[in-house]
Amino acid sequence: MPWDPLTEEQREVRELVRTLARERVAPRAAEIDASHEFPWDVVELFRQHGLFGLFFEEEHGGAGTGALLSLVAIEEVSKVCATSGLILAVQELGSLGLKLGGSEEQRARWLPRLASGEVLAAYALTEAGSGSDSAAMRSTARRDGDGWVLDGSKRFITNAGVAGLYTVFAKTDPEAGHAGISAFLVEADVPGFEVARLEPKMGIAGSTTGELVLGGCRVPAGSLLGQEGDGFKLAMRILDRSRPGVAAQALGIAQGATDYALEYARTRETMGKPIASHQLIAAKLADMEVMCEAARGLLYRFGRMVDEGADDAELTKASAMAKLLCGDVAMQVTTEAVQILGGYGYIREYPVERFMRDAKITQIYEGTQEVQRLVIAREMLRETRAFLLAGVT
Ligand SMILES: Cc1cc2nc3c(=O)[nH]c(=O)nc-3n(C[C@H](O)[C@H](O)[C@H](O)COP(=O)(O)OP(=O)(O)OC[C@H]3O[C@@H](n4cnc5c(N)ncnc54)[C@H](O)[C@@H]3O)c2cc1C
Repeated sequence: MPWDPLTEEQREVRELVRTLARERVAPRAAEIDASHEFPWDVVELFRQHGLFGLFFEEEHGGAGTGALLSLVAIEEVSKVCATSGLILAVQELGSLGLKLGGSEEQRARWLPRLASGEVLAAYALTEAGSGSDSAAMRSTARRDGDGWVLDGSKRFITNAGVAGLYTVFAKTDPEAGHAGISAFLVEADVPGFEVARLEPKMGIAGSTTGELVLGGCRVPAGSLLGQEGDGFKLAMRILDRSRPGVAAQALGIAQGATDYALEYARTRETMGKPIASHQLIAAKLADMEVMCEAARGLLYRFGRMVDEGADDAELTKASAMAKLLCGDVAMQVTTEAVQILGGYGYIREYPVERFMRDAKITQIYEGTQEVQRLVIAREMLRETRAFLLAGVT
């Protein structure tokens, strides 16, 4: 009996993505990492094979195959290249504002272009002074004639400079705290919008991470996403659904590292036998396998919850749990993979040091691991478990 809950049809799509990843993305992964260049050829590959469509409904030109399969696709690509897996995850992150809060007109205009991959998307919440405490943002938006003018800056924005459409959060009422934040759709070519710089990074080197400057950035009235003042709630609803994308990226990295270390341990010999036969190495491999499978269980459960129509409130904790476990597993497993390869694990000729560098970001973005724990504990405190204590004296 298969371990995963996928249907035959879902397995067929997974096989297609797996083949593309192995044959077309894997040979590019080391080069993408070394060059620090955004891999437009991988975007083109995803466009040609309809991979962006896995994140969208049929009515908007997508495949309509659901959340679970979209997570599986990110996982499969991330097994060989975390930068490429992130391209898929961020297309979802940057489109969720439209899916959850967009008007019919906004959705009809943008979702088909996002589903085909013609336009790449980005999500701009973080600022230099506000990451975990995102409500402390300082960017503003004020009404001006029949449009809005945005001022401020955003930091660490994935897809900066390659995205055509940004979901940008800004304060429309700076005195109103959370309730004073609104969301806007900002096209890359509007006046007053600039990508000021791109950050060199430890990992996911081919992904762009940049600073956006909004200097009197003028957008039309129809750019407001949802209602004025609903931006913070929208930002959190987006993260509830997007964090599992990071979890899928993390799991892919962890599984890729496990698979590589396993093959290496089979053939590398010390003291007259393959290192896999030394019990200390065998134990590491076993632990890595268990961690990946346990993380997959939480992640796929989230995918099934979405596909079965779970409401928003139920998703918050499940999403944070999947992100927390998958991110921590990715870091632990990749560190062990480097250890299994010994000195070869530490050098660029082998991919496991890249896996380890790439894994680290999954503990940081879309809410750090500390923030995930805060979210999980907050949700736990809302639950009633007193019945467990019944009869305990
Ligand atoms: C490569 C990369 C890509 C990114 N992509 C995007 C993107 O596309 N869009 C976007 O909007 N943002 C993006 N980010 C930003 C990312 O989400 C933030 O960096 C992250 O949320 C942490 O915020 P911070 O860096 O300001 O750290 P801080 O919030 O300053 O946190 C510093 C440390 O303190 C801890 N901490 C903070 N508050 C608490 C608390 N209350 N309790 C316990 N511990 C706490 C944190 O966990 C962390 O360890 C990206 C970042 C990177 C590095």
